[in-house]
Amino acid sequence: MADREIYDLCVIGAGPGGYVACVRAAQLGFKVVCIEKEPRLGGVCLNTGCIPSKALLDSSEYYRMTAGRLGEHGILVDKVELDLRAMMARKDQVVSDLCDNVRKLLEGNKIKVVQGHARILNRNSVEVSPGGDGKSGTAPSLIEAKSILLATGSEPVSLPGIPFDGSAIVSSTEALGFASVPEHLAIVGGGYIGLELGSVWNRLGSKVTVIEMLPTIASNLDGQIRRAFERSLARQGFTFRLQTRVLKARAEADEIQLVVEADGREEVIACDRLLVAVGRRPLTRGLGLEEAGVRMDPENGRVWVDEDYRTSVPSIYAIGDLIAGPMLAHKASAEGVAAVECMAGLSGEVNYDAIPAVVYTFPEVASVGLTEEEVHARGIEHNVGTYPFAGAGRARCMGETEGLVKIITHARTDRILGVHILGPRASDLIGEGVLAIECNMTSSAFARAVHGHPTLSEALHEAALAVKKCSIYAS
Ligand SMILES: Cc1cc2nc3c(=O)[nH]c(=O)nc-3n(C[C@H](O)[C@H](O)[C@H](O)COP(=O)(O)OP(=O)(O)OC[C@H]3O[C@@H](n4cnc5c(N)ncnc54)[C@H](O)[C@@H]3O)c2cc1C
Repeated sequence: MADREIYDLCVIGAGPGGYVACVRAAQLGFKVVCIEKEPRLGGVCLNTGCIPSKALLDSSEYYRMTAGRLGEHGILVDKVELDLRAMMARKDQVVSDLCDNVRKLLEGNKIKVVQGHARILNRNSVEVSPGGDGKSGTAPSLIEAKSILLATGSEPVSLPGIPFDGSAIVSSTEALGFASVPEHLAIVGGGYIGLELGSVWNRLGSKVTVIEMLPTIASNLDGQIRRAFERSLARQGFTFRLQTRVLKARAEADEIQLVVEADGREEVIACDRLLVAVGRRPLTRGLGLEEAGVRMDPENGRVWVDEDYRTSVPSIYAIGDLIAGPMLAHKASAEGVAAVECMAGLSGEVNYDAIPAVVYTFPEVASVGLTEEEVHARGIEHNVGTYPFAGAGRARCMGETEGLVKIITHARTDRILGVHILGPRASDLIGEGVLAIECNMTSSAFARAVHGHPTLSEALHEAALAVKKCSIYAS
C-alpha cells in the first residue's frame, strides 16, 4: 500500500551515514523518511562495530591495568576476577543507550522511521517489506520520494571454503559476544578490526595468533609507527604469522584445525575459536540496484558515485561503506552531510586528505594524511619531526610512555602533510593533526600554538618543533 506522502528524501539505512544525513536534511527543511531493516537504529557502528568494540576495549584495558600496572601506582589489589557476563552486559547497555539516543534524535527532528527491508522499485519509489528480511508475509508498503539516499553499509566477508558457523568460526559480530574467554583465538587478518578484537581477548587471557598474508600487520600505517606498534603487540603476547595463507579449516569437537601455508610449507594451527577479519563488502544484496540501473564501480565493487554522491541514476545518491574510500563511521557521516547539502544546492564536500584513522589498541595508533612511504612514492621532498611520549611529563605521570608522535611536512612550504601517533590517547590527540591538515597549517604555525602543561599534546608540540630541529626537550 502506498504511503500517500511524497517525501523530499528517503534514506535507506540508519547507520552513522544514514542517520546523520537524515538530521542534516531535516535541518535544511526536507521532509525525510528513514528505512531501517533492523529493530535498532545506529547501523553496524553502534550495534556490532565501533561502539561495542570500544566498550570491550575500555573494560578489558581496566582489567589488564588492575591485574598488572596498578601496582606501580602504589595501588595493591588482592584479587582480580573477571565477570565476563557483567562486562558483556555493560557493553550491551552502552549500545542500547546510544541506539535509543539515535531514535530520539530522529524523532526530535521529525523524521519518520519505518522498519523493514527496502528495495528500490524505480528512481523515486522504494518498496518496504516489514520484518526486516522481506519474508514476513505482511504486504510490502510503497514510499515515494524526490531523492533516495543509499546508506546500507557493509557486511563481513568470509574466506572461501571456511564459512562462518556463528560459534567457533566467526566474524567480528560474534567475537564481540563470546560467552567464555577463548583459550587460543586465531585471527585471520591483521587489520584494525582483528587487532582490536585480538587485544580484547588477549587482555582477558586468550592466547592470540594473527595470521596475515601480507608481510606486515596494519599495512596502511606509516612504516616507523607500524614497526613500533607490531613490537608492542608482540610484547603483550600477540603471535604474528606473517606472509602466511590460510588454506582450510576443520572444526572438530572443541578444536579447529587451521591449515596454513608459509614459505611453501603447509602447517596446522590448532585453536578453539577462529575470527575471520579479512575485510567487508558493500551491502547491496536485495536492494534492487541492478534493476534500477544503479552502476557499480568495476574497480572496487562498490556503488559508483560522482562528486555530489549521485549514482548513475540522478535521483539516487549513495554514501558510507557502500562507496569508495575507507570504511569508517566518521567518513560515512561526513558524506551523509555532504550528499544532503549537494541535494539542497549547497557546496557539500568531504576532504578525503584529512580523514583520521584510529586503532584503539594499547597503545593506540592514530594517523591522518600521508605516510612517509607515500611521500617518498610521490617524490615529495619532505622533513620529519618526531618526539617520544617518554619525554612528555604527563605520559610519565600516567605511566604510559610507550610510543611517539611523527609529523611529516613539505620541505619547501613547511605545510603539514601527515601526522602519525602511537601512544596514549592517540585517538583524541589526532584531532590536532586533522585540524592542522584541514587548515593547511605549517609546522612553524603549529609550533607557535601554546600547548598546556603537563599534557600529552605537548608531544605533538615538540614533534612540530622537531621538524626544524628546534625541539626544546629532545636530547
Ligand atoms: C568490529 C568493528 C569495529 C569498528 N570500529 C570502528 C571505529 O572504531 N571507528 C570507525 O570509524 N569505524 C569503525 N568501524 C566501521 C564502521 O562501523 C562503518 O564504517 C560504519 O558503520 C559505516 O556506516 P554506514 O552508515 O555506511 O553503514 P552501517 O553502519 O553498516 O549502516 C547501514 C544500515 O543499513 C541497514 N540496511 C542495510 N540494507 C538495508 C535494506 N535493504 N533496507 C533497510 N535497511 C538496510 C543496516 O541494517 C544498517 O543498520 C567498525 C566496524 C566493525 C565491524
